[in-house]
Amino acid sequence: MFWWRNEVRPGVSVAFTDIGAGNLALHVGDNSADVTARRARLDDAASLGGRSFQYMDQVHGNEVAVISTYGPGPTADAMVSMPRGVQAAQPLSVMVADCVPVVFVGDAGDRDPVIAVAHAGRPGVASAVVPATIQEMRRLGARNISAWLGPSICGSCYEVPEQLREDVAAVVPAAWSRTSWGTPALDLPAGVRSQLAEGGVTVEYSGECTLENESLFSYRRNSRTGRFAGLVWTHD
Ligand SMILES: [Zn+2]
Repeated sequence: MFWWRNEVRPGVSVAFTDIGAGNLALHVGDNSADVTARRARLDDAASLGGRSFQYMDQVHGNEVAVISTYGPGPTADAMVSMPRGVQAAQPLSVMVADCVPVVFVGDAGDRDPVIAVAHAGRPGVASAVVPATIQEMRRLGARNISAWLGPSICGSCYEVPEQLREDVAAVVPAAWSRTSWGTPALDLPAGVRSQLAEGGVTVEYSGECTLENESLFSYRRNSRTGRFAGLVWTHD
């Protein structure tokens, strides 16, 4: 069910699912009742106590949605939970299969921490969805932000045309890479790490390669495939 799960601060947990949790996306041709049942099992496994993870309709952009209560998924590639005072922050989910799932926790003094997720694929890295998420978290009072990068395709596996490598590296130089077989590639996790460093965010975990590890969904490996999730939630 969980590839990695940890209570990263008192009362705040972060997790990444693996293939054992099944496909969690509604848009990949899977039976929607099955997906809904798997999402409910995940809510139970995380002991959300009647709450549910909020999913989003991801479009490889850089929109950041501010979420205060559970509802229909916003069209966005990042979400930040509005600190709620006495009520718990809305649990969040980001779905991926090779793109980088980024989960954030920011201290907010006496209030609940500001939690966030971002979907950083090639267009998201180039259009700065991660810096946009950091900015929104700070606007909502986050200080001392930490990030967890889930599993994604690595810089030795993610082959792209030469021109695409040049285009992305022109805006995010750290993403420039070469495959293990010597052709042009992009290193998305390295690009994300450079954006996090520029934003003053500490990286506390970085997952391994989805293409190389069959316990994880990989779009590049299987083309028609499911999605796993990065999750963050607050609890007692
Ligand atoms: Zn790899």
